[in-house]
Formats: sequence, structure tokens, C-alpha cells
Amino acid sequence: MPAIFVGHGSPMNAIEENEFHRGLREVADRLPRPKAVLCVSAHWETRGIRITASTRPETIHDFQGFPEALFAVRYPAVGDPLLARRIAEHLSDAKVRLDPDRGLDHGCWGILRIMYPDADIPVVELSLDTTSPPSFHFRLAKKLAPLRTEGVLIAGSGNIVHNLRRIDFHRPNGFDWAVRFNNEVKKRILAGDEDALSAYQTLSAEAHLAAPSPEHFLPLLYVLAQRQPQDRVSFFNDKTVMGSISMTSVLLAGGE
Ligand code: ZN
Repeated sequence: MPAIFVGHGSPMNAIEENEFHRGLREVADRLPRPKAVLCVSAHWETRGIRITASTRPETIHDFQGFPEALFAVRYPAVGDPLLARRIAEHLSDAKVRLDPDRGLDHGCWGILRIMYPDADIPVVELSLDTTSPPSFHFRLAKKLAPLRTEGVLIAGSGNIVHNLRRIDFHRPNGFDWAVRFNNEVKKRILAGDEDALSAYQTLSAEAHLAAPSPEHFLPLLYVLAQRQPQDRVSFFNDKTVMGSISMTSVLLAGGE
């Protein structure tokens, strides 16, 4: 099974028929059908690590100030508690807890309702312990590799560049520093430079502007950690918007 990182941007991308929506749909249509999705979203930060273990995870509307149509969205995919338990076993040496109450946040359902609009594939979500450094996440994510061969799609949902303080809603493209950081990250991804990507805060002098907090960048590391020598890397929705958000998304395929 391939692995995919999706730049999710504004929550409105979940319901707007725009170029990013179309770009993601096109890529998803070409993927083999997964048995389940393991989602790693920027919008579930915890101390310690948790995995959703509900049979019917609710749709969480974890945002404010958006149109009612967005709050009306439900993504009724079932959960997969057995898969959740297997994932916990794969991650065995870390502090992992199954969470039967937690639903799916908009980082997760916002991309999945575009990729799998029928909500007919079970979904499990893994939290981000943002108290741990990026290198911890990279090592942890490598333990998920067996899932790919079992037909589980590992889907990261975040943004390579994400700075809400600097956002300019009227600006169609990115600030120069945002574009430069995004390009640097892409270059390192193509080169397979895992050490540099795990230390992304020092990747350039502008890293503190492009990724001022870790939660939107870390899901990318969970996907890159799945990379096998045979994998081809491709980018889609490769654009920087509103000054300080990059929609650049990454597909790894061929190494499964
Ligand atoms: Zn987000």
C-alpha cells in the first residue's frame, strides 16, 4: 500500500470543490483500495500516545467561525479496534493507550471525505505526542511499516508550512520565506535526507517562521518514515497559499 501526506490547509477545503479537492481526489482514485486507514493528523495532540479504538468514531468539529455547512458534515466511517490494538503492539515500547471515546478530527475526516466519500473504509487515528522531539516521531513511525504490507493506508494530514499568525487571506501565493522553506523540504524529501527532515527546525534560517509549532509538520515524518528503497516519491497540490500555508502533498508508492 502506498503512504500519503496531505496538506490540508483551511477546514473549508473539506467541502469546497477547489483545485486542492480535485488534486487529492485524482490521486486517491489511483490508489489501491486500502483495508483500513491509519490517520496521523495535526489536530490530535496528546501527552503520551493514543489510538482511537471506538467502533463508531464520531465526527469532531474542532474549529470555530466557519459556515454551518462545515459543522453539518458527518463522516460515518467505522473504527477498527482490533487494528488499533495491533498498532499498539507494533509501537510496543512506547507509552500507548487505546482511546475508545475519541472521534476523528477535521484533519482526518477533512481529507478522507474527499478520498473516500462513501466512508466505507475503517479508520483509526494515531495521536501526536508533541512533547517528544521530531526524531522520536520518525523512529516511532518506522515501527508502523508492517501495516503497509497488510493493506493499511498510512495517511498524514498537516502542512509543511503552517503559520496562522502570518496568514494573509487575500494573498493567493506564498511569502518568499514560505516558498523557500517548502522547496528546501521538498529537496530533502527527494534526496531521502532523513536526518535533515527530522531536524527540520534547523533546516533553514526561516524554519521558525514556516513551522513555528510542530503539530502540522510531524504528520509528514510519519509518512516519510515508511519509505522503502523501491518507493517513488511524487508531489501533488504543490502550492503555497495565503502567504504562510503550503498545500504540498506527498505520495510514496512502489515499495509496498
Ligand atoms: Zn490544520
